Amino acid sequence: MIPLLVRKAIYPVHEKVMGRNTFACLQELERLQWLNPAQLEEIRFRKLRELLIHARNNIPFYADRFEEAAFDPEKMQSLEDLKIIPLLTKGEIKQNLERMTWKGCPGGLHRYNTGGSSGEPLIFYFDKRRQSWDKAARMLTHRWWGVEVGEKELYLWGSPVEATRQDRMKELRDKLTNELLISAFEISQANVGDIFGAIQRFTPETLFGYPSTIELFAQMAKKQGLDPATLGVSVFFSTAELLYDHQRKAISEQFGGIPVADCYGSREGGFVSHECREGNYHVMDPNYVVEFIKDEQPVSAGEDGEIVLTHLDAWGMPLIRYKTGDVAQPGEGACACGRSFSTMQGIRGRTTDFVVTPDGRWQHALSVIYIVRDVEGVDEFKIIQHELEDVQVLVKLIPELYPGNGNERIIAGIKKRMGDSVRVRVDIVETIPTDASGKHRYVVSNVAKKGL
Ligand SMILES: [Zn+2]
Repeated sequence: MIPLLVRKAIYPVHEKVMGRNTFACLQELERLQWLNPAQLEEIRFRKLRELLIHARNNIPFYADRFEEAAFDPEKMQSLEDLKIIPLLTKGEIKQNLERMTWKGCPGGLHRYNTGGSSGEPLIFYFDKRRQSWDKAARMLTHRWWGVEVGEKELYLWGSPVEATRQDRMKELRDKLTNELLISAFEISQANVGDIFGAIQRFTPETLFGYPSTIELFAQMAKKQGLDPATLGVSVFFSTAELLYDHQRKAISEQFGGIPVADCYGSREGGFVSHECREGNYHVMDPNYVVEFIKDEQPVSAGEDGEIVLTHLDAWGMPLIRYKTGDVAQPGEGACACGRSFSTMQGIRGRTTDFVVTPDGRWQHALSVIYIVRDVEGVDEFKIIQHELEDVQVLVKLIPELYPGNGNERIIAGIKKRMGDSVRVRVDIVETIPTDASGKHRYVVSNVAKKGL
């Protein structure tokens, strides 16, 4: 399909039919990104106040919550007043799901189950309004990278959930909107050629997907003598999991030096933040109030805090001060790109990307990843922290390169990082299993999963 036709006609009609005003939202975001911070704050305050009044009037859970906190949204003076409302946990959502939804929501509610790909499963609902803004945010940020709505985009997806949703309507829609989804739940030497061929035929402008999946795909393709750089992709949009620096570099090189643009968000939280060309992660300020919290208090710029979200357009099931379990730091100062959206940095994502030491330190997964990566002859690996003092390392080898003391080096390195009392065992395996969602995680910690 001709991209211009998709952009000007097909996609807008599709969104209308679906009951979403995505393109109006996009236009608004285009305008708002260049406002000065004071003007932007004024608009966000108005949106927040409207959301909170709606929540009090129409959502039983929040009506009770506000009353208990003696919070009256009509009397709000600034965004700061939001802090009177208690933080919202995943546990509360599970227990109060039905009482958290807006029964009279225009266009109805869509139920979504996160399936637990990043820890515990969570069921939630979203509405057309939220979908429109989230989609518009995605379109906006693609434009930051020179990619217009309607240009061919390939989703190389790792999730079996998505694959089963591939019904014929969606296939048709994808055709019309120049999108193609390829399920890469399992990439193997046996099917990588087929995947490569399908991408080649589609000739996508951009790729979108899990960085681990894309990296693995490119590695395997190369082993088959197929060069991903010949696919002619101009940018890779990384999503759904932490993008490590080494992955960014590897993917860029594998595809012939293309830029890698990263976003932060989640199924339940929506489209929160995206990198601009200056390398800063801008928060979608018109759609969110994002807080960075430690011990119930906001942290300063450059300090680690848990990301706490209030989605300003999730009216069907409001998320007000939702504790994501992810960690980042508030950014500081203006960005050279000129956009006034605030920034965040040091996103270290999902709590499963940490290991927890017996003396209570949450160490970034990279601290143990580096140890294993440093041993030559390690082809693939996975580190599993079963219990506080029980760590297993699965290693797939290139036998002729792996040193005789490889296991000892891994064990000694991890003990040095995590503490001597930790039992570490190295198991040499033929294949590294993916997790339930098909993601290739380097580190899984059952201790970190339990939360702070
Ligand atoms: Zn910027």
